[in-house]
Amino acid sequence: MRGELRYEGKAKRVYATADPQQYVVEYKDDATAFNGVKRAQIEGKGAVNNAITVAIYPQLEAAGIPTHFIRQLSVNEQLVKAVSIVPVEVIVRNVAAGSFSKRLGIDEGTPLSRPVIEYCYKSDALGDPLINTDTVLSLGWATEAQLARIRELALKVRAFLTPFFGARGVRLIDFKLEFGTLAGGEVVLADEISPDTCRFWDAATNEKLDKDRFRRDLGGVEDAYAEMLRRITT
Ligand code: UDP
Repeated sequence: MRGELRYEGKAKRVYATADPQQYVVEYKDDATAFNGVKRAQIEGKGAVNNAITVAIYPQLEAAGIPTHFIRQLSVNEQLVKAVSIVPVEVIVRNVAAGSFSKRLGIDEGTPLSRPVIEYCYKSDALGDPLINTDTVLSLGWATEAQLARIRELALKVRAFLTPFFGARGVRLIDFKLEFGTLAGGEVVLADEISPDTCRFWDAATNEKLDKDRFRRDLGGVEDAYAEMLRRITT
């Protein structure tokens, strides 16, 4: 199934297949934080993040959100539609945390009165700098119509995921999405939705069940990821 390696990121590898319209994505156990300064292996992370994404993406499709997902191939691989990734990380926030709290001096855990969408340029070399929609349009990373669709889909993903996790005893604090375009220009959700890319707080205890356990040396990283998989799939 797997052809030549097309791209290797911090947490995934993307391979060509015999069909130019399809790629294989392999999820790795590698974890990085602070723009690659902190690195480690989290045992079983690739399989857990693959399983979580495999469980969620078809439900997003059913909710009217087009995605790149086709099907699971193995414990840590999935088949996806070949897309051209828009080099923009789309961050959706329900509650202040992380860089938002730091930048604006707002306590972590402060609820936001409406969702906040932020855009960052997907560039490891530059540390994913914050940008705005004018930047995206001016540099030709997406058209106005594509950008409007990205925003619409990001809010739709939030509208689906927030109650989805709420029903599983998890507060969805914030998350990061990436979008791609198909050959005809149609925007689809790409990448992953996992504890690497979302902040999940236990609804009863506010315990962190996501990558902040790794970033902040809280311990119990593998257990938190496994607990999120369990809540999503049972
Ligand atoms: N995030 C991500 N990849 C990045 C940056 C952020 O998946 O390169 C996710 C992160 O896990 C969190 C959300 O996006 O769920 C918001 O992250 P934030 O901007 O607060 O940055 P951080 O504090 O993680 O540096």
